[in-house]
Amino acid sequence: VLKVVENLGVSYVRNTDAYKSKLENELRKLKFPYKALAEDDYEARRKDHISHFILRLAYCQSEDLRRWFLQQEMDLFRYRFNELTEGLMQKFLEHVNLSFEAVSEGEKTELTNELCASTPGFSLPKVKEQMFYKVGLVDAVDLFRTRRVFIKDGFAYVPFKEIDVIVLNNYRTKLSKALALTARSLPSIQSDERLQPLLNHLSHSYVGPDYSIQKNTGKISLEQIDALSVKSFPLCMRQLHRALRDNHHLRHGGRMQYGLFLKGIGLTLEQALEFWKKEFIRGKVDADKFDKGYAYSIRHSYGKEGKRTDYTPYSCMKIIMSNPPSQGDYHGCPFRHSDPELLKQKLQSYKIPPSGITQILDLVKGMHYQLACQKYFELTHEVDDIGFSLNHPNQYFTESQRLLSGGREPKKELSNSGNSQQKHNSQESMNSNSTPASSNTTADTELEGLEAYFTED
Ligand code: SF4
Repeated sequence: VLKVVENLGVSYVRNTDAYKSKLENELRKLKFPYKALAEDDYEARRKDHISHFILRLAYCQSEDLRRWFLQQEMDLFRYRFNELTEGLMQKFLEHVNLSFEAVSEGEKTELTNELCASTPGFSLPKVKEQMFYKVGLVDAVDLFRTRRVFIKDGFAYVPFKEIDVIVLNNYRTKLSKALALTARSLPSIQSDERLQPLLNHLSHSYVGPDYSIQKNTGKISLEQIDALSVKSFPLCMRQLHRALRDNHHLRHGGRMQYGLFLKGIGLTLEQALEFWKKEFIRGKVDADKFDKGYAYSIRHSYGKEGKRTDYTPYSCMKIIMSNPPSQGDYHGCPFRHSDPELLKQKLQSYKIPPSGITQILDLVKGMHYQLACQKYFELTHEVDDIGFSLNHPNQYFTESQRLLSGGREPKKELSNSGNSQQKHNSQESMNSNSTPASSNTTADTELEGLEAYFTED
């Protein structure tokens, strides 16, 4: 749900009719009980509360996670609060101890002119019909800073329709404090062996198709990989492929990320052995060292050695959230782990138009890394609408191939002028179908065993 909220928050102006109707559709599709309060559905509310508190535990663990969680929860809360009837809003305000003193009819009549002049969008009749509340200045900072309320004797006179700003500020402060407090109690929670694995995986868990089960196995030849890396690889894999070709070597983080991706797009074990060997022996590794040191780990990743686990290619969340690259590494997600200036240069070298680069960098700045990658897909495939919600590098590849082979209609005529054409505003171009992938999935496979075999640089 929060991923959908993030997608729509970037693609639409919040609180507009288009945003609200898209969000309502998506929440319905996901069976999220967004109207549980209005419908007085106790069970649905209980589940909603439990999942919120579990997510708090999972998302309090780092500054990045806290910021992301806070933003999405705020957006979801704003939508849900504004969907309430006036009666339910009042009830809610009382429940959370935010019941402000209503301005009496007498005082309102006395101050009609001032209220009308100080409250944008309010005419005299509108002032008469709306309820106003006296709110302490601390709670109404945002409103008086933007000169949207009348102030007298240390109180802001807030019309009912603006009360959501106050409620949201209050919610932000409380949730932010609660996340910081929860983070402090993490050590004791993490010592509970029932909770620890759940919490470690939740913030970067992946619930999409399992790309280790490949229908395409053997359908890709090694000669095709260079061309595919340009046309259909996401930036993370394109970067790894380029580094491998340039250096004839990748360190273990890169070999794992790229090796499992290649397996996912259909390389057989024999092809993988040939691919890596050919490249490595062009560098400092001789054939004998390769056979002894590296071939075992490749067979292992195909489930042919050790515990015989068939390892799963990494999802975006796993790549973004774990094992950040250090000096000399090429793995990770370039949208998350590259310096913005270097990312810009890389995108320029890939002939992404300047307006597209600006959009991508804005998304990166807002920490919407997967959305930045979706934008990269749109620009490199010359479509206005990516048509799916990106969760996995192998999904990127599959969708790219489907599009390029005509299996999916591009939503725009392809241009003859390469990448030079400008795109529409991303507000208009986002996908309406951005639900997370289906549930016929597996969780991330534990890779600790495999990592042990890849320790050699
Ligand atoms: Fe790769 Fe995912 Fe990052 Fe795109 S968002 S570059 S697919 S890790």
